[in-house]
Amino acid sequence: MHVFRPASKSSKLLQLQALLPRLHEKSPNFDHLHDLLGKELAGYYGETSLQYYFQLLHLPTSILLYGLRLPGEHNAFQIDALLLTPTVIFIIEAKNIKGIVTFNEAGQLIRSLDGIKETYAHPLLQANEQRLHLKKFLVSHNFNDIAVHPIVCFTHSNVILDFEHQQTDVLTSEQLPNRIRELTNQYKMKKLDRRQLQTVARVLQTHHTDFRGNVIEKYNIPKRHIRKGVWCPSCKRDMMQRYKRTWICPSCGSRDSYAHRQALTEYGLLFKTSIKNSEAREFLAVESSSVVKRMLTGMELNYSGEKYKRTYYLNELLK
Ligand SMILES: [Zn+2]
Repeated sequence: MHVFRPASKSSKLLQLQALLPRLHEKSPNFDHLHDLLGKELAGYYGETSLQYYFQLLHLPTSILLYGLRLPGEHNAFQIDALLLTPTVIFIIEAKNIKGIVTFNEAGQLIRSLDGIKETYAHPLLQANEQRLHLKKFLVSHNFNDIAVHPIVCFTHSNVILDFEHQQTDVLTSEQLPNRIRELTNQYKMKKLDRRQLQTVARVLQTHHTDFRGNVIEKYNIPKRHIRKGVWCPSCKRDMMQRYKRTWICPSCGSRDSYAHRQALTEYGLLFKTSIKNSEAREFLAVESSSVVKRMLTGMELNYSGEKYKRTYYLNELLK
């Protein structure tokens, strides 16, 4: 199996990871964003945990793409994992939640954990929706008659699926390889060879669009609610202080001359992908413009403009 598109953290997840430790706890959206970070992180771990089960399959000509986000008719649609096999394409919707999972009569998914019940939309509805979008997408690129089969996979090791009626395509990671084997034998409509599968994968990858939204803008977070400074990379408890060409942590005492690199990466994720000396001084909480200039030029970033108007581009840090 060839992993054409590996699992990676989405821009939304990276933004939330940079934002939450800096966000004032009393900021109006703090709790919501904190939950959102938990969900995004769980989703990412769910995707990465699938890899082990895909490897058990031994499908040499198959191709795997994680986290594809494709343009739909109105909105983009996202697929956690897409497995292209010669006879059928699998949409895997990963659900990384723990607890006891059941369905009620209305077809809602109920998750019970620590005495608290939460309802979710039926995950197969979502996966079927993605199937329709994907079918349309494939047909519009002249890939006709390719079968697409959605599967919902619960990836958390502490999940119990307690269904009254059997749901063949709602299963745990352990059951995934068997179900895929079973289905690849059932579908006989069309057989794609390795080259054709690669063409499909390339077209899908070309049309992938990253989520470009900015979390701070979307949630209208006032700048004053976002803590400035350079985190200590060792203890991550406190902001470091600049002292004689290095950074020192007041909490644990560790030193790091390049700790500003991470802070500027976070600036690039949270605000914008370029920075001026004055902006860097403010964000890094360093008063001296010559000290900040030395840091910025020392990182060998691309730049434009001269003197105080110089703009440094942070794209290198965001790769
Ligand atoms: Zn420290």
